[in-house]
Amino acid sequence: MVSLLGRLIGPLIKRWRAFMPVLLFSFLTVALGLATPYFIRLAIDIFNGTGMTNDVYWLALAIFLVALFQGISDWARLYYMAHLGQQIVLQWRVRLFDHLMRLPFSFFDKVHTGDLISRVASDIETLSVFYTRAAVMAFGNIAFLAAILCVMVFWDYRLSIVYLALLPLIAHAMSIYSRQVSPHIRASRKQVATLTSQLRNGLTAIDTAQGLGFTDELESSLSATSQRLGESRIKAGNVVARWRHYPTVVVAIACAACLWYGSTLVRTGTMSMGTLIGFTAFFGLLGRPIRQTGFMVSVIIRAAASAERVFELLDVDANVKDSIDSGPLPDGAGTVKFDDVHFSYDGPEGVPALKGISTTLRAGDVIALVGPSGSGKTTMAHLIPRFYEPLKGKLTIDDRDIQKVTLASLRKRVGIAFQDSFIFAGTLRNNVAWGKPEATDEEITIALEQAQLSDLLHREKGLDLEVGERGLRLSGGQRQRLALARVLLYDPQILILDEPTASLDKTAEDKLRRALQNVRQGRLTVVISHRLWTVRNADQIIVLDEGKIVQEARGSKESSADEQLSKAGGLYVRLQQKLLTNGKEQQ
Ligand code: ADP
Ligand code: MG
Repeated sequence: MVSLLGRLIGPLIKRWRAFMPVLLFSFLTVALGLATPYFIRLAIDIFNGTGMTNDVYWLALAIFLVALFQGISDWARLYYMAHLGQQIVLQWRVRLFDHLMRLPFSFFDKVHTGDLISRVASDIETLSVFYTRAAVMAFGNIAFLAAILCVMVFWDYRLSIVYLALLPLIAHAMSIYSRQVSPHIRASRKQVATLTSQLRNGLTAIDTAQGLGFTDELESSLSATSQRLGESRIKAGNVVARWRHYPTVVVAIACAACLWYGSTLVRTGTMSMGTLIGFTAFFGLLGRPIRQTGFMVSVIIRAAASAERVFELLDVDANVKDSIDSGPLPDGAGTVKFDDVHFSYDGPEGVPALKGISTTLRAGDVIALVGPSGSGKTTMAHLIPRFYEPLKGKLTIDDRDIQKVTLASLRKRVGIAFQDSFIFAGTLRNNVAWGKPEATDEEITIALEQAQLSDLLHREKGLDLEVGERGLRLSGGQRQRLALARVLLYDPQILILDEPTASLDKTAEDKLRRALQNVRQGRLTVVISHRLWTVRNADQIIVLDEGKIVQEARGSKESSADEQLSKAGGLYVRLQQKLLTNGKEQQ
């Protein structure tokens, strides 16, 4: 908790320049707040001593002016704090998002996107309440309580004992309060995250949900979470409501004690009437800061819960990162070598996904990766742009270890289109130029033409065509080729296509085939595909099974890779036969 608060307050201290006006106006507000009881004391003592004089009118005017300036100064303090708070929050949010963008794939395998969204959006929002309201209140109120104590001791130390006796009461109540309220606040933060997660899952899979008819189940689980959230909020609200009366009672007791004890002092003539009434006025002023402290405590608890979730993310080590001695990947033909590469998604003890892959993918070739589902094709492809790190062995591009080059330079050279690449709502232009916003319309058009999508361009809107949420206004084949166009815009030297042909009909497939013939020139193309034509035309075929290369062939002048493997028999032939029968069934 202490280190957490330290991390929360750190940014305030770091920005001390922007924090200075906040502190200044906090103290000014406090000082002005103390002036009123002082003027009341003066007025009464003047009145008691010499009777009504003009000075009393001046004091009345002074009280009015002080209130006015106090209002202005309070406004200034809140204004500067809001600015500072928003700056800090903006920085947190950008930092968190930036950090997320650098995290390895393996991290995203294990988390819920909805939870991440709620951390970046709503947890940061909670922190903003902390910075814009609670922090300023905390500084203001602590200063106020301390200043009152000083003035009281200075005026009359005997009565200040009543005030001092009050402080432990408040502190005790506060600790009980925070202990009662924090579990509910924590629970509600978690429930908000669950709710976001459920919403996201439900809304992104609305077609599946409606198709399978389980929208009712989604609805009831969402409503259950909502209900739990409501219950946590009500419980927290109960604690707050109980707490609200506490300061009034405490202040009333203090006032009574002060009047009772003070009046005996006045009667014995050891204290002036003005001082007594001034003291009572001070106690009257205590209600607000004490009540606010209650509010502050709940904001701080909430901020701490949110901060914990934010820091937890920030502390996740980006374990795929550039080593200190890494430089950019030097220009070269683009030959990829796997040297005894082992990999498992669950660390060294986990089930291995790749078991000792050694092969060379020559620059300019088309490589077909084939093998049964789950044999490790995608995994092997994902190691090339370093989405994951091999457990053992190494990968080189043009004899440079890819662990020793910067990620940015590596990923500029390697383009990958997934089986189900994300198409977002927006125009054709935005979708293609997603990773390269500075691309000209001409470049985008060329990429679309290479991907055999020029027919889309001839529709009335051209590049401004709206593709719909997740590209739903395009056909499956068009979506696939749009994802390809996006990669082609980069003009990557090494192109990886993961099952680009899955779920395509005959015409869409023909188009893609033409697109692929267009793009293979001058680059290494790795295709994972179940289609015979991609495999037959490949320069090199790698057959994977259970994370191992079981067969491999490279075409020569005499015979193609496919012919060589067909002669050899084995898994390759069995797979081809299966494809052939499947193909016949389709036709
Ligand atoms: P293929 O692409 O050949 O169908 P994959 O490379 O996707 O096969 O999968 C190889 C093995 O790794 C499978 O056993 C699969 O269950 C596992 N696997 C794939 N992706 C992940 C992941 N993100 N987390 C954990 N295991 C995974
Ligand atoms: Mg796969």
